[in-house]
Amino acid sequence: MTFDVYHFNSKINAGIQASGYSLPTPIQKEAMPHILSGKDVMGLAQTGTGKTAAFVLPMLQRLLGGPKRKGRALIIAPTRELAEQTHNAIMELGRKTGLTSMSIYGGVGIQPQIRRLQKGVDIVTACPGRLLDHINRGTIRLSNIEVLVLDEADQMFDMGFFPDIRKIIKRLPAERQNLMFSATMPEDIKHLASEILKDPVRIQIGHKVPIATVSHTFYPVTTQSKNTLLLRLLNRNGTESVLVFTRTKRRSQTLADHLERAGHDATALHGNLSQSRRQKALDGFRSGRFKILVATDVAARGIDVRGISRVINYDMPATADAYTHRIGRTGRAEETGDALTFVCGEDKGPLRAIKQLLGSKLKYAKTEGFSVPGRVSKERPKQWPPAPKKNFRPRRANENRRRSKTFL
Ligand code: AMP
Repeated sequence: MTFDVYHFNSKINAGIQASGYSLPTPIQKEAMPHILSGKDVMGLAQTGTGKTAAFVLPMLQRLLGGPKRKGRALIIAPTRELAEQTHNAIMELGRKTGLTSMSIYGGVGIQPQIRRLQKGVDIVTACPGRLLDHINRGTIRLSNIEVLVLDEADQMFDMGFFPDIRKIIKRLPAERQNLMFSATMPEDIKHLASEILKDPVRIQIGHKVPIATVSHTFYPVTTQSKNTLLLRLLNRNGTESVLVFTRTKRRSQTLADHLERAGHDATALHGNLSQSRRQKALDGFRSGRFKILVATDVAARGIDVRGISRVINYDMPATADAYTHRIGRTGRAEETGDALTFVCGEDKGPLRAIKQLLGSKLKYAKTEGFSVPGRVSKERPKQWPPAPKKNFRPRRANENRRRSKTFL
């Protein structure tokens, strides 16, 4: 199912295309039809699921129609970073719509915000404290608000924002669409939801656990040895399609170049590339012209390529969620797949989260010569050495035979 089914305005479709989205994510599939029909929605979903676009796209659609008034949509977010990120998503998805957006938060001068507000803005994404400040100064007009989004409600509760939010909501027109998103649903959130939402549609996007057909192996390595280890692993399995993840756009490019120079059919996929180059990289990978795609998380989100047999986390994903997303690219549709993850000293935090996610001991490969002995204490993660326990059982029966020697 593509985005066509939603019949978005062509200016919005241009934004979807420019963002590189080809298929809606589960939360988008579930939530967008209801939001488009004007219903209130309570969405239980975490960051990384595509929830921002799930509310932004229908919001843009609504604002392109209806009265030619400013200040019709308000998003409340707990942190500056999220406010800024949401504002950027609006700018990106709405780039051709002519609609205007701004973010409002404390810790920066209020005057530029006031001047911007005076000019009139279609969509405001705000943190509660500074928004309340503007309300009290009379520098923001909320009488035209038709859509209210409360994003990451549980975090706003944890940060003590609910009293502010209640004050803000009292200043909004009673007739409006309300959308609320939260990663968890404790009693306080349920309570706020029952106060704010009218006959809401409830949507829950489950935590996707890595598919059982994927085997997970971890490789202790120093930062300096990553390239050598990667080449060693790639040379061993020359004909497979491999997706390699890096943390930064720049590294994705330099690593792809490096692999190419080493004789591999490799290409990069990251946000600094033009849409046409991204498409070319993806098409080339799909067709098998490139065996190796070196990508960043954001660029690889939502990509659907069949037959990827390996995902290599050259850089450790930042969160367990990101790990799930990355390895979800292999082992699809009953095919088996391998997830190989390089582990450095600084990766302790995410490693712990991934261990929890997998719910079992991590399986480490022997990488003698790659983790420098003299620097081990500095480089090693806390649970080092996580030697496989005696009664350790791999997931698949035939996996034992295949992996008994490890990769190196
Ligand atoms: P969010 O959960 O809203 O923070 O989104 C996480 C990431 O997924 C962002 O980088 C979005 O740009 C990206 N994203 C959202 N929807 C899609 C989609 N349909 N296809 C690919 N990427 C998406």
